[in-house]
Amino acid sequence: MVKAIVGANWGDEGKGKITDMLAREADIIIRFQGGANAGHTIVNNYGKFALHTLPSGVFYDHTTSIIGNGVALNVPLFFREYQELVSRGVHSPKIMISDRAQVVMPYHILFDQYEEERLGGHSFGSTKSGIAPFYSDKYAKIGFQVSELFDRDSLREKLDRVLVTKNILLEHLYHKPLLQTEPLLEELLEYGRMVSPYVCDVASYLDQAIKEGKNILLEGQLGTLKDPDHGIYPMVTSSSTLAGFGSIGAGIPPYEIRQVIAVCKAYSSAVGAGVFVSEIFGAKADELRRRGGDGGEYGATTGRPRRMGWFDCVASRYGCRLQGATDVAFTVLDVLGYLDEIPVCVAYEIDGKETTQFPPTAALEKAKPVWETLPGWKTDIRGIRSYDRLPENCRRYIEFIEEKLGYPITMVSNGPGREDIIYR
Ligand code: GDP
Repeated sequence: MVKAIVGANWGDEGKGKITDMLAREADIIIRFQGGANAGHTIVNNYGKFALHTLPSGVFYDHTTSIIGNGVALNVPLFFREYQELVSRGVHSPKIMISDRAQVVMPYHILFDQYEEERLGGHSFGSTKSGIAPFYSDKYAKIGFQVSELFDRDSLREKLDRVLVTKNILLEHLYHKPLLQTEPLLEELLEYGRMVSPYVCDVASYLDQAIKEGKNILLEGQLGTLKDPDHGIYPMVTSSSTLAGFGSIGAGIPPYEIRQVIAVCKAYSSAVGAGVFVSEIFGAKADELRRRGGDGGEYGATTGRPRRMGWFDCVASRYGCRLQGATDVAFTVLDVLGYLDEIPVCVAYEIDGKETTQFPPTAALEKAKPVWETLPGWKTDIRGIRSYDRLPENCRRYIEFIEEKLGYPITMVSNGPGREDIIYR
């Protein structure tokens, strides 16, 4: 049985917490896309961790954590994260890395920085983790698979070839120091030595695991609205954030993904540039940011303050639909307990017409939010474990949003911890 845990919004919905929680019942947890450009924050009995590369299941003894072929693997960061876990008392996690995963090259990170500098005011707000240059090279067929890290001669030959175009850009476009084959070759061989204990044919392993009826979780990064096809292009990430891509980024049959848990946050936040219709500003935004998440809404990778907004039914319904949600996990609801009333964006007005359909970016740029206001519940709901114990206005908020989404909210998260969950 394969379940996907994916974001219905812009990311930072609390997927890490839901994965960590569901991992208790899982055998295998897989990351299938993205890289170290976003992070999951997880709070459990070992403390608080920001994971960027490792799957959120690494805290359990009984699970195997897998880095799938779809991931942008930053080897030194992977290592640092692994060692931090071990040094903080987490038993050595069982990890596998797909032999088909590709490696973030040191120059991908440089090119990400140089390009953002060059674009200046028109930059993408990249985290400068090398993700866009990485996926560009992957699809331009000049990327390096993990399986290539072990043969000095063919690595040298390929580096020589790839560096020709890289150096032309460095010299003539960016006016930066040129790259040399030999130091990069040594670095890649070192990467090979670092990952070699973990490398395997992940897709065959998963084929067998599925046949044995293992419980498998696919863990998504970011959310629908950052998908390069269905999100707010071009202010998106460079790999698909959709559950459907789990099949490709892990190497399993699409029909094996039986459950898709779309994680949806009870209000909105986004990092980086791009249209954000239900965004709020000023003192209201500051207060929500300060109270949000677990210790404030600041990027887990960059520490950047997140942009804040009220819940957006149009974007979230679209987000759930493109994920193919079978379940919605509604998260961080406890944070809203301070509000007298809670605005919700129920439709967009575009060129004088109201719509509940999420349009492509050109039209989205013109959208204005249509608000409806719900009464707040003015209490702390942390610690509540059953749905009918929630204050009436809180249930009204959940049920109002469930109706607007058109997908069942089967889990309500009311705190950052594993046990802060209400099943419906
Ligand atoms: P992810 O990338 O989707 O895993 O999300 P992040 O880890 O970036 O952001 C979620 C933040 O909210 C983390 O700090 C979590 O510890 C926290 N969090 C998750 N669920 C809840 C919840 O129900 N209530 C509160 N207060 N915090 C939560």
